[in-house]
Amino acid sequence: MHALKAMNPATGEEGEIIQTIEPYQVEEVMEEAWDAFEDWSSKSVQERVSTLRTLRIYISDHADEIAQSVSWSTGKPKIEALTNEVLVLLDWIHHTERTAVKELKTRKVKTPITLLGKKSYIAYEPRGVVLVISPWNYPFYLAMVPVLSALIAGNAVIIKPSEVTPAIGHLMERIFTAVGFPKGLVQVVQGDGAIGAALVAASPNYVFFTGSVATGKKIQVEAAKRLIPTTLELGGKDPMIVFEDAHLERTVRGAVWGSLANSGQVCMSIERIYVERPIYDKFIARLKRELESLKQNNREDTDLGSMTFAKQIDIVRGQIDDALEQGAVLEFGERPVEWKMKKSMHLRPIVLTHVRHSMRVMQEETFGPVLCIMPFDKEEEVIELANSTTYGLNASVWTNNLERGRRVANALQSGAVCINDVNVSIANPNLPFGGVKDSGIGRSHGSLGLQMFCHEKSIIEDPGRNKGELHWYPYVGKYPLFLRMIQGLYGRNRNYVQFIRAFLSLSKKSR
Ligand code: NAD
Repeated sequence: MHALKAMNPATGEEGEIIQTIEPYQVEEVMEEAWDAFEDWSSKSVQERVSTLRTLRIYISDHADEIAQSVSWSTGKPKIEALTNEVLVLLDWIHHTERTAVKELKTRKVKTPITLLGKKSYIAYEPRGVVLVISPWNYPFYLAMVPVLSALIAGNAVIIKPSEVTPAIGHLMERIFTAVGFPKGLVQVVQGDGAIGAALVAASPNYVFFTGSVATGKKIQVEAAKRLIPTTLELGGKDPMIVFEDAHLERTVRGAVWGSLANSGQVCMSIERIYVERPIYDKFIARLKRELESLKQNNREDTDLGSMTFAKQIDIVRGQIDDALEQGAVLEFGERPVEWKMKKSMHLRPIVLTHVRHSMRVMQEETFGPVLCIMPFDKEEEVIELANSTTYGLNASVWTNNLERGRRVANALQSGAVCINDVNVSIANPNLPFGGVKDSGIGRSHGSLGLQMFCHEKSIIEDPGRNKGELHWYPYVGKYPLFLRMIQGLYGRNRNYVQFIRAFLSLSKKSR
């Protein structure tokens, strides 16, 4: 693959041709990254952070242009590109400007009494070259956060954007040049999965991957062969749990937005809706009315955009066909056979009821504008249903009873839970983001978001005035003293006098 052609999935309009590299060129990319790392890693965190202000202002000045470009490349409404990719990124940058120095500062930690007289510190040192591999559904935001986190932590970065949205890779490249990052410090390497694999095989010092479970597992295997640490942000099958006492209008509107934003191509999209039986019929009736009111067109005032990736439509179609064959009822939308006739990337929302957990649509990630609704009777039952997939990225609980909301949130196997809201946890830079089970390994954002791109170096310091240590040679006569010290300090009848006496006797023997 020598070039990628940018394309607007909503209209089919073709854009720029983007050059890719060949796998054999990956070594040169790595070398350039290492050269840039040398100088960049020697700068103070404060100096590195100062670039964020320039970047924030540049992105803010060009927000409309960036939103337009993301919308063109993905088919999502421009307002979604602006709010869910640009605004949240600016929030994150501003937060990081204020917190990075503190997060990455060498910090003193306590030293146990058995190491009396010493001081202990943790220093955060950059890892080296970080590889960021990103997906097509939020091609700007999901690439920028790990790239910037790794940079601020002092690393050089190679970014391999999705081949489905190459224009956004090119856009990021232009932004990095415009704000004056040194040559080679952030390199955008365009190409498909083979280039991603070649980059992993070139042994970067860290891989931050966002994408599907299948690719995540392949990367983890290759990374393990080279002992490369990774963060894997993978797929989801997020449950929404609606209790009888929830604010009905808010809940229905939350269900519609949480399922259909970006045409459902969101890792933490609502993919399963469980509604307490007494309000089940009312919920569906209201939901249909809400769906009828949504606009879907190619203009700026549209609510619903298009799908981004044609292959994703096949996955969605397969799951709906499977569900309909097994007895699911199509409450809203068109049967997949009718989509074929239109050959459009715009999928109308689909509502399925009478779904069961044996259906693929209730187990596998759908990543499309599909709402699957199932009634439940008891809290314990719905918790079990919600936890019964291999995923655990995000979840939401809707109720007026916040105590119950918190109880259910605690019982869900999920990286994040929103109570009476959806998808919003990622927008708070103070909250860690990531999944459990097949939804991933590691976290981004939060206080670990920068630190994970560093080696934590432990430093322990002794004034160096004594000639030896308690546990050094010679051992003669020390065993009973250590035993007395242990029992005095940690035993059933803790006895500090016993501990101190044993400690002093040991000290005498050692110093
Ligand atoms: P994907 O796994 O197909 O591709 C992701 C990236 O990996 C692309 O850049 C691709 O070129 C690259 N790649 C493919 N094969 C590779 C290999 N063998 N080695 C190295 N790189 C390789 O995913 P996608 O279709 O682009 O994205 C959709 C998926 O991403 C969904 O499953 C979605 O849930 C998930 N996702 C997760 C999060 C999260 O934060 N948890 C966010 C967004 C998307």
